[in-house]
Amino acid sequence: IKKVAVFSTKPYDQRFLEAANHDGRVELNFFETRLRQHTVKLCDGYDAVSCFVNDIVDRSVIEQLAAFGVKMIALRCAGFNNVDMEAANEFGIRVCNVPSYSPESVAEHALAMMFALNRKITRANVRVKEHNFDLEGLLGFNFAKATIGIIGTGKIGVATLRALKGLGCELLCYDPYPSKEAAELAEYTDLDTIYARSDVISLHCPLTDDTYHLIDKTSIGKMKDNVMLINTSRGGLVNAQDALDGMKSGKVGYLGLDVYELEGDLFFRDLSGRVPNDDVFALLLSYPNVLVTGHQGYFTKEALEQIASTTLHNLESYFQG
Ligand code: NAD
Repeated sequence: IKKVAVFSTKPYDQRFLEAANHDGRVELNFFETRLRQHTVKLCDGYDAVSCFVNDIVDRSVIEQLAAFGVKMIALRCAGFNNVDMEAANEFGIRVCNVPSYSPESVAEHALAMMFALNRKITRANVRVKEHNFDLEGLLGFNFAKATIGIIGTGKIGVATLRALKGLGCELLCYDPYPSKEAAELAEYTDLDTIYARSDVISLHCPLTDDTYHLIDKTSIGKMKDNVMLINTSRGGLVNAQDALDGMKSGKVGYLGLDVYELEGDLFFRDLSGRVPNDDVFALLLSYPNVLVTGHQGYFTKEALEQIASTTLHNLESYFQG
């Protein structure tokens, strides 16, 4: 039976992976720690490792893995950007990913953020729990009358368009590689038209050299006053300082963020005040119309099941040749 060292696992990951491995096809050993140069020694004696987005599988880690006889890396995410693929090839280590895990999960989270921001759900919740039925400051708008711009019409962008379709809003979209599916749901246009016409803009493109800080003072300057911006893709798509300036000036009316340039421990360290007071995120968080979640978009039962079953399938297929 093949032994797999599974890194970066929380108890919920472990439950879904155990369930997918109910017949004991492989032996899974879970580590909460991330795979790094200083933790790679844990892989001694394993046939495969499984990693997630924040594990860093660079050349030196791969050299060590090869020396331990590890033959395969089963990624539990779509992107390969945390693995030195050249080194993996060189050392004959096979790398597999989970190409798609429930695009609806992230799409629905983007919608949840749009609705919660529009109807000020988090503020209303606090008020009513304090027996306060005052509606001042909670005024929303109808999505049926709104124009929504979707940037990036891949798996998640299309799922977002599909979910929005029933609301009767006007749907615009942009992607350098248009798809037939999205064209049936929305009107393809250029970015400047999206900026000029949208009441809500939701980002669903990957982070690349082209999209780094796509949302900055120049693009924000082209948007409608009081625009709603939603980012569930990658933190680097938004220049946080420029978004803050947009909130200050009233150009940006609402901001929903699930992803950040610094995430996890770094983000929370910032929040606990061990950074200078002028920290951009600390200021952003002081705005009631800024809604933040911690890279939660993918986090549904269906997505975790898909991640676990594809990972087990990848491991099994590899070891069966
Ligand atoms: P995908 O590859 O299916 O689609 C991405 C689309 O973006 C493609 O159609 C591509 O042509 C387009 N694109 C590329 N460059 C662009 C540009 N310059 N401008 C506009 N569009 C561009 O990917 P996906 O599965 O739909 O994922 C979209 C994003 O969501 C990714 O950034 C991914 O990292 C992120 N994501 C977030 C979570 C979460 O939990 N928040 C989970 C999964 C994925």
